[in-house]
Amino acid sequence: MATEISDELPNIVKVTMPSIPRTWDPVSLLYDNQWHDSAEVDEEIENIHTSVPELVDVEVIGQSYQGKNITCLRITNEQNTVQKAQTLVVAQHHGREQVTVEMALRFVLRLVNGYGVNAALTEYIDTQEIYVIMTLNPDALDVVVNDGNHWLRKNLRPYDNDGDGLFGEDDVEDVDGDGHISEFDVYIKDYPEEVPAIYDIDYAYYEGIDNDGDGLFNEDEVGLVDLNRNYPTFWDGGDTDVTTQVYRGTAPFSEPETQAFRDFALNHTFAMAYSLHSGINATYFPADESDNWFEPSLYYGMAADYSDILPSGFNNIAGYPQVFDDRIISTTYGGWGEWMYTERGCTVPITFELYTNASVHEDAASPIIVNNSTHIIREWKGIYGYFAPVESTINDLWNDIVGAFDYLLEMTPRVNFVTTGITGGVTAGQVVDITLSMECLSPRLGSKDAISVLDENGVELDSLIAVGAAQTIVRSPSFTLPEDLDSSGYVILIGCNYTGYTKFLVTTGGIGIDPLLLVVGIGLTVTLVAIVVVIYMKRRP
Ligand SMILES: [Zn+2]
Repeated sequence: MATEISDELPNIVKVTMPSIPRTWDPVSLLYDNQWHDSAEVDEEIENIHTSVPELVDVEVIGQSYQGKNITCLRITNEQNTVQKAQTLVVAQHHGREQVTVEMALRFVLRLVNGYGVNAALTEYIDTQEIYVIMTLNPDALDVVVNDGNHWLRKNLRPYDNDGDGLFGEDDVEDVDGDGHISEFDVYIKDYPEEVPAIYDIDYAYYEGIDNDGDGLFNEDEVGLVDLNRNYPTFWDGGDTDVTTQVYRGTAPFSEPETQAFRDFALNHTFAMAYSLHSGINATYFPADESDNWFEPSLYYGMAADYSDILPSGFNNIAGYPQVFDDRIISTTYGGWGEWMYTERGCTVPITFELYTNASVHEDAASPIIVNNSTHIIREWKGIYGYFAPVESTINDLWNDIVGAFDYLLEMTPRVNFVTTGITGGVTAGQVVDITLSMECLSPRLGSKDAISVLDENGVELDSLIAVGAAQTIVRSPSFTLPEDLDSSGYVILIGCNYTGYTKFLVTTGGIGIDPLLLVVGIGLTVTLVAIVVVIYMKRRP
């Protein structure tokens, strides 16, 4: 007796989850048009999460030096639990770049508010896992926002700079109460020009008082390690001077903040990612130790895209380090982007410098306050404006650069898999062949890894070929139906870690062993065991 087989078997269908019905009202910020400190960021995260639990998941990925949570949001269609293509935005490695936190918050709001309204955003959220780390440096965020220390770039690990047994006890202060901590730029008159160029500074000192009464001013500042110099790649070339703004730390990943990011990144695969910064307008691509971009042709193409997307004049020469003779070196020793590229396989980790106001560093903004026979001293009050806009224009900045965030999602490689045929076996142990069309939806990034066919447990059944950007390839994977096949069908997953996976159900004839033969087999076995036992018993002495 044979198992009944339909003429239509085998069959294969894509198992797709529909978009989630839009049931929630638009989510607004609790604190709009103002800087958020870390507690307020946490409040916003909680509000977004409770407003849209269907799309938003929250994970604490670690703690800062002072024990504040470093939190990651995941925005995705949670009904589709198969691994999807993954993309990342991480904000605020650097304290005074608090505007990046604001942009990350508005990015998340754009996603949850655009879902079910904007077709492209809905597709991105259905097919991607979008990770957003609101701040990697919450300790410094609080000092910048609540204490007004707009010089603080590094993390808050204490350090006894002056060796007096105290930590961070002689920081800068706003002595004259004008809302700015001034930098005093000193120019020694050993040059031919009457007035030196603004950047020909010999040394600087800062507004403050001698807090510890040792005759020195601001010699034990708050802040120690530049988190964006604390990654292992090219770390050896980093700055070893604890007093500079770019001190690399005692070892790669010496800091709890970078450790948190490392542990998070080790569990994900990103084709493209943003690390948000401010202080310049640029999209920095990672480069090797000779300042050569890792993926020159790809990065040139993307830099051109950004020139179209971002406001005119935004993507200055820093975005094109190889194009101009007066290039700005883009390699960062111990930087995030170089580590993401070399160690985590992220093809395009962009250090996205999304705001500056260079006018605050022009001559007029730095008036000469001393001009004697030996020195000129300029007073610069512009550190705040250099890195951050006035609060009332935060949303204007977001509207200017939002296209770059949509671009991140558009570029993330997803593949539309369509099966156009299936032939072969219907019972256990038999081989089936599938005709599979693979269309990469990203215009610039392919699947990178070969596309695989996996069983539900992740065991590879067949390996195909990588799909290039904007490419459609047809292949014919085949695999053997398992021995434990039953009539409910056989689930397979197609994709790779960069593109995520799509689930298919192969409908077959069910189990491969005839039930009648199974009964006969059991009967024979029982009979044989009985005979063996009888023989054994008879041979006992
Ligand atoms: Zn920065």
